[in-house]
Amino acid sequence: MAEIRVMRDDLRPPDPPARRHLISIGDLDRDDVERLLATARSFARSLEREMKKLPTLRGRTVVNVFYESSTRTSSSFELAAKRLSADTMSIKAAGSSVDKGESLKDTALTLAAYDPDVIVLRHPQIGAPQLVARVTEAHIVNAGDGKHQHPTQALLDLYTIQEEFGRVEGLHVAIVGDVLHSRVARSNIQALLLLGARVTLVAPPPLLPRGIEELGCETSTDIRTIQGADVVYVLRMQQERMQEGASYVPSLREYTARWGVTPERLRPGQKVMHPGPMNRGVEIDPVVADSA
Ligand code: ASP
Repeated sequence: MAEIRVMRDDLRPPDPPARRHLISIGDLDRDDVERLLATARSFARSLEREMKKLPTLRGRTVVNVFYESSTRTSSSFELAAKRLSADTMSIKAAGSSVDKGESLKDTALTLAAYDPDVIVLRHPQIGAPQLVARVTEAHIVNAGDGKHQHPTQALLDLYTIQEEFGRVEGLHVAIVGDVLHSRVARSNIQALLLLGARVTLVAPPPLLPRGIEELGCETSTDIRTIQGADVVYVLRMQQERMQEGASYVPSLREYTARWGVTPERLRPGQKVMHPGPMNRGVEIDPVVADSA
C-alpha cells in the first residue's frame, strides 16, 4: 500500500492576508482604485434607502485621530464608520494628552491597547502614518500627512468626476494654485494619471515643485491654460504649511489678480472642484464658488 506522507506545511492553515493600509495613492494599482470606486458606488446607493446603516463593520473598532484642524475629513470618517456599524472613537490633538507633550508613538501605543481594527490619522508630519503602522496592529488610513499625501480625498475626487462625466480616462484636469504645499495635489496627480486622465498643473513658478513633471503631468504658469480643461481643480493657498519668511507670491491680491479662478477665465461646460476649505475671493471668485 502506498504510504501517504503529509507534509507539515500542508496542515498549516493559509496565512491571513497581509495587513493593508491606505497611506499613499502610490501603494495602489488601477484595479485597487477601480474596486474601491465600485464599492463606494454600492455604499452610495445604500444611502438612498430610508435605513442607511449597513452591517459591514459590525464588531470592528475605528479610531479617528486628528492632529490638525479638519471639518470635512473628520466628520466624513466618523459618519462613514457609524453608517457601516463600527464602534468609533474620535480624538483631537487639542484637549488630549498631546497637549501635555505626549509623543505620537506613545499616543499610538495607548490607543493600541484598545485593539482597534482601523486607525484614521491626520498629522502635520510626513511619515506619521507609517510610524503608527509600525507600533500598532491596526490598519492605518492616512487622512493627510503634512504636504505628502491625502489618498481618501483623491479617491473621493475620482468618484465625483466619474459620477459627473461617466469616466475619468481621457479627461483633462487642470489643478490650479498652491501645488507646492498641497498633499491633495500629490495624491490627485497620481490617482488621475492611474486612471488615464491628463493632468496640467497651473501655478506661479515658486508654487510648482521642481521636477513634478516626472510624475507624468504637464505644468503651466499661465492661467489661460485652464480654458482647455474639462475639470478645473482649485487649491487653497496653504499659508500654515509655508516656510516662515518665504515669499512665494508678491501678495495675495496679486495672486488673485493673476491666478484666481474667475467666471471670465472659465468656459461653459467645465466643472470646478475644490477640496475645501475655500478662501473665497482669493483662489476662487465667490461667483464661481456659488455656481452650479
Ligand atoms: N482639506 C485639504 C487638506 O487637508 C485641503 C486644504 O487644506 O486646503 O489638505
